[in-house]
Amino acid sequence: MNVIAEEKPSLTLTTLPSDDIRQIMWRFADRYELHMLVQSARGVARGPVARLVAAGGRNSHEWTAEKNALLQHYDDSGITAASLEPEQGGYIAGPKNLALALLAFELAWVDAGAATGSLAGNLGLAPIHERGTPEQREKYVSGAAPLKPGENRKQVRAAFALTEPIPFVGVETGMLAGKVRVAEWKNGDEPTLQVEKRGRFITNMGFANVVTAAVDSDDAKIKGSCMVILEEGDPGIWDRGTPTKKLVHQLSSTNDPVFNLKVPASRIVGGYTIKDGMIIPNFSHSEVIEAVFRRTRVTVGLMTSAKLLSAVEPVILYQRRRFRGGQGAPGTPRYELGIQQKEDALHRLVDVWSTGEASASLGFEAARLFDELDPLEKQKDAWLAEKNLTGRAALKEMAKKQAEAMELVKLNSRPVGERNLERAAELEADPLVKYAVLDSLANVLCPACKLWNTGHGANMMREAVSLMGGYGVTEDCPGFLGQKWMDAQLEATYEGPEAVQRLQLSITMTSELFLAQFRQWILEMRSLASERPGTGACALANAMRLWLWTLNHVQAATDADGAKLYHKTRQGVTFPLADALCWLLAARQFILDVVELETKGAENPALADGLAGTVSFFNDLCHVQSARAAGEVGRVCAEIVHGYNRHPAWDEKSCHACYCAEELSSLEGLIPGIDGSARAYSDVSEIGENHPCKAGPCVSFAGLEDFALLRAKLDGCLTGCRLAKDRAAESLTKVMTREALDYPM
Ligand SMILES: Cc1cc2nc3c(=O)[nH]c(=O)nc-3n(C[C@H](O)[C@H](O)[C@H](O)COP(=O)(O)OP(=O)(O)OC[C@H]3O[C@@H](n4cnc5c(N)ncnc54)[C@H](O)[C@@H]3O)c2cc1C
Repeated sequence: MNVIAEEKPSLTLTTLPSDDIRQIMWRFADRYELHMLVQSARGVARGPVARLVAAGGRNSHEWTAEKNALLQHYDDSGITAASLEPEQGGYIAGPKNLALALLAFELAWVDAGAATGSLAGNLGLAPIHERGTPEQREKYVSGAAPLKPGENRKQVRAAFALTEPIPFVGVETGMLAGKVRVAEWKNGDEPTLQVEKRGRFITNMGFANVVTAAVDSDDAKIKGSCMVILEEGDPGIWDRGTPTKKLVHQLSSTNDPVFNLKVPASRIVGGYTIKDGMIIPNFSHSEVIEAVFRRTRVTVGLMTSAKLLSAVEPVILYQRRRFRGGQGAPGTPRYELGIQQKEDALHRLVDVWSTGEASASLGFEAARLFDELDPLEKQKDAWLAEKNLTGRAALKEMAKKQAEAMELVKLNSRPVGERNLERAAELEADPLVKYAVLDSLANVLCPACKLWNTGHGANMMREAVSLMGGYGVTEDCPGFLGQKWMDAQLEATYEGPEAVQRLQLSITMTSELFLAQFRQWILEMRSLASERPGTGACALANAMRLWLWTLNHVQAATDADGAKLYHKTRQGVTFPLADALCWLLAARQFILDVVELETKGAENPALADGLAGTVSFFNDLCHVQSARAAGEVGRVCAEIVHGYNRHPAWDEKSCHACYCAEELSSLEGLIPGIDGSARAYSDVSEIGENHPCKAGPCVSFAGLEDFALLRAKLDGCLTGCRLAKDRAAESLTKVMTREALDYPM
C-alpha cells in the first residue's frame, strides 16, 4: 500500500471512496438487490471484459467469437435479466432506471463498449417495453430472458434501428427513408405489411435476431409513421450488412443492415386501429422514441462519469511512481510523490475527479427521478385512458394538472408557518399533480446529464489522458484511459448528439414549472451556504441567480438590429444557456449528495473512521466544482447579455476604447500596451472630445445594473475556492491506493 503519514487523520481523505460511501451518496444503501447487481456487474467488467480488452479484443471491427462470449457472461451474471420484470424472467421488481444506471456505470468503469453491448439489447426492446401491446411484451421482452436449464427456445437478442444512411435520419429523426406498405389485406384478415428499412450504425446488429425499426407510411392505407418489429426468419431480406469501422466501443457490434421483409400488422409497436379502411398505428415512431430515449440517455451519461472516476486511481499510481528511477530513496518526497510534487498535475486531477463526481451525482439523480416518475406515468396513462382522453383533449386536462402543480410548488416555497398545509396535502395526494412536477424536472435532467456528462466529460477525459504523458495515448495505458477518451466522444454522439440535447433543453428549461422549482433551489443553496460555506454553495446560488436573470432578460431582449434573442433559430443564445444550466445542475446535485453522505454516513458504524475526512475532501471538491460552474455561467451570461449590443464608436486611435480617459491615465504603466512605447495611440489626450469615453463609460449598463451587480457578487463569492483546491490537491498526495488496479492491463 502507498501510505504516506497523515497529520490530521480525522479530516484527511484516507482511502478512495468505498461502496458504502457510494451507496449513501447515490441513495441505494437500503437496496440489497442493487448491491448484488453492482458486485456481479463489477465481476464481469473487471474479469472477462477487462481480459478481452487487455488481450487486444478492441482491435477488430468484426463481431468475433471472443466478443460473442461476453453475451453469456452478461446472461450468467444477471446483467441481461436486470431490465426484465420478475414475471418476464427478471429479478428486480418496480422501476429499473437506477439499476440499469448502476450497471452501465460498472461496465463502463472498464469498457463502455461492453456496457453499450449489454444495454443496446434493452434499447432494442425499449419501444416494446414502453409502448408495446401486452402480447408484444410477453413475446419479445420475456423472450430476452436468459434460458433456464432444460429450456429450449431461441433467446431474443434485440437491436434498435432508427438511424439511416445519409441523407436520411440522423439528428433529424423525422427524415425517414424506411417505408411500410400494405403487402396483402384480405377481407377481415390481419393485413400483411411490406417493410423496407436500411440502417446505419445499428448496435448489436452482428447478432440480433429481433429489430425494432422506425418507418414511414408509403401507402394511402397506412397513416403516418410507426415502429415495427422485425424478426430474423421473416420472409424477405434480412441482411446484417457490413460492420462499422469504429474507432470506439469495439466490444459492441455495429453494422449497417438492410431489411425488406413481410410482417403481420400486429408487429406495429403498440398496435393499431382500423378506421375507414385505413391502418392507424396507435403510436407514431416519434412518440415511441421519445418515451425510449428519455430513459436510456441517462445511462449513457453515466458511462462517461464512470470513466472519469475510474481515471483517478491509475493517474495517482502513475504520478507517485514516476520519479523512482533517479537518485531519490524511499521516504524522500521525490521518491514517494513523484509528479505529485507538482501543483499543476494535482490541480488537474482534482478537476477530473470533481467533474466525475458532479456528473455521476447528476446522472444518478436523473435515474432515481425516472424511478419515481415511471409509476406515476402509468397512473397518468391509465387515468387518461379511463376518461377516454387523447390528443388535444388529453393535453387540455394535463394543462389543468400543471396549473395545480404550479400551485403546489408555490405553496411549498412559502415560509413554513404561512403554508396552506391542507391544500398542499390535497395537491400532493394527486398522482397527476406529482407527475406534472416530476415530469418538468425529468424533461430537464435527462438531456442535461446526457449533454454535460458526455460532452464536458469527453473534454475532461482528455485532461486525464494528458496526465499519463505518452502512456495516455497507448494501448498499454493503465485503466485504458486513451480508449476511454475516444469512447466518451461516442457517448456524446449516439442516442442524439449534443445538439439534440441542447435543442430539447432550450425548450424544457423555460417551463414555468421547472423555473419555479429552480427558484426554490436557489434559496436552498443560499441556506446551505450559511450552514456549509465550504461547499461553494454561495457561489453556486449566485450563479443560479445570474443564469435566471439572463434567461429572463433574453426572452424579452433584442440584439443591436432589433431581432429577438431567445428564438429557436438563435442557437447562439439558447444553446450556451442550456450548457450553462447543466453546470449548475451538476454542481448542485454534487453538493446535495455530499450533504446526504455527511448526514446518513454518521449512522453507519462501518464508516466511522474515514467519514469526516471523506466529507471534508468532498466539500473541497464541491467548492472547486461550484466555482468552476460559476465561472462558466458568468462567462456565458456576460457574452450573451453584452455580446449582442454593438460596441460604441470604435476607432483606430482608441484601441483601448473600453477604458474611459480617466481609467486610462490611472492604468498607465499598470497594464501592457499602456506605456511609453504605446503612447502613439494610448495617450489619453488623443481620445477625441466626441469619444463616448468622454461622456461616460463605453459600455452602457442602462437596464443591466442588476446584471452587473450579480456578476460582481458572483466573483466575490469565489472567495476560498482556490484554497479548497489546494487542500484537495494535498489530499491526493496522501490518500491510500492499491498497489495495482483490480483489473488487467
Ligand atoms: C457506434 C455507434 C452506434 C450507434 N448505434 C445506433 C443504434 O443502435 N441505433 C440507431 O438508430 N442509431 C445508432 N447510432 C446512430 C447515432 O444515434 C447517430 O449517429 C446520431 O444520432 C447522430 O446522427 P448523425 O450521425 O446522422 O449526425 P448528423 O445528423 O449528420 O449531425 C451531425 C452534427 O451536425 C450538427 N447538427 C445536426 N443537426 C443539428 C441541429 N438541428 N442543430 C444544430 N446542430 C445540428 C451537430 O453538431 C451534429 O452532431 C449509432 C452511432 C454510432 C457511431
